[in-house]
Amino acid sequence: MRVKKVLMAVLGLCRETVIWAWELPDGDRARMEVWVRLRARRRGRCGRCGEFASFYDQGGGERRWRHVDVGFATCDLIADARRVDCPMCGPTVAQVPWARHDSSFTRAFEDLVVHDAIVGNKQAAADRYAISWRAVNNMCERVATEALGRVDLLDGLIAVAIDEVKYKKGQRYLTVVCDHVTGKVIWAAKGRSKATVGEFFDALGDERAAALQFVTADGASWIRDVVADRVPDAIVCLDTFHVIGWATDALDEVRRGEWNQLRRRGGAAAAKALKGLRWLLVRNWENLSGRQRATIRALDGSNRRLLRAWQLKEELRELFKLPLLAAQRALDGWLAYASRSKLPPFVKLARTVRSFRSSIEATIEWKLTNGIAESNNAAIGRIRANARGFHEPHAFITMIMLDRAGIAPRLPWTAA
Ligand SMILES: [Zn+2]
Repeated sequence: MRVKKVLMAVLGLCRETVIWAWELPDGDRARMEVWVRLRARRRGRCGRCGEFASFYDQGGGERRWRHVDVGFATCDLIADARRVDCPMCGPTVAQVPWARHDSSFTRAFEDLVVHDAIVGNKQAAADRYAISWRAVNNMCERVATEALGRVDLLDGLIAVAIDEVKYKKGQRYLTVVCDHVTGKVIWAAKGRSKATVGEFFDALGDERAAALQFVTADGASWIRDVVADRVPDAIVCLDTFHVIGWATDALDEVRRGEWNQLRRRGGAAAAKALKGLRWLLVRNWENLSGRQRATIRALDGSNRRLLRAWQLKEELRELFKLPLLAAQRALDGWLAYASRSKLPPFVKLARTVRSFRSSIEATIEWKLTNGIAESNNAAIGRIRANARGFHEPHAFITMIMLDRAGIAPRLPWTAA
């Protein structure tokens, strides 16, 4: 087999590309240099917009792109950087199939690095390929911009979830919109206000907004008011995830209250035991071990109020699994029980639930309880933790989209 043929296959170059020279220069780390050119000497395409354009000049001579490593060696592709005269963009470096415009890395190399940055983080990818963090960051931007230019994620939406995500300490938030059907994140922007939600509906446009049948959100008026205004016909559902979050908060408030009382009365040991119960109480009953369940049952003898709070949380959670009619009946019962519970956090919660009742029933009726917001929230939390936080909301949004919008690059050797 000829070396050229081996190189073509090993470097994964396409048929339009011709290898005409190669070299292994001396250096600390093994390095391979491969000279390539395009097969067709006909008209080139503009590197910026991709349109056919006529030859302009030879440009600034040779250009070099870092390609995927070959064994122990790093690999550079080298080619002439011809320029074309694009009717739209003016004189521009001609498009090459192996690299994105304005990059000194090949497409395959960038896809590989971005893949690693998504799975791990940008710094780990930078270390692995011995490039700068900034270079990795730029690659993520380029890959995401290219992918988002190809698909319109806002097409064909029927049901969406609108939620907020923290990106930095001190009340810095993003607004994130997910598609209930695919589970993908389809839109994200800095801020959490009526204006931010308005931006989403502006991007969606009136026609596509009219096709929207369901919107799930928490109780926040900065979301609900805009939804009511922009898509008055859509059914607004309350994310189950949020309702259960409220109940869990109420339960924790009761536990804290009981703990404080015990401490004040000098029951230090009992107070300490109560503090340790925190994580046990918020977990779902079905995920508890036999011993943990016994601990909760034992509250019947030691702290009735806390047991009542716990039951209220679990009952509310169970209610979402019922068919609508049964759920409506159960909700009546729950509201009566919570209102008379003499537990202030649950009396308050009952009032909140009552005011969102139609939204809660819509959630149950349309079964929009599949935790899309919850799983995306968890994944976004993971992205933030992997990066050890984001200073720049834009960089965070890019990583969220790359990971959760279904636009992550495929590994170069699996690409069709
Ligand atoms: Zn152009």
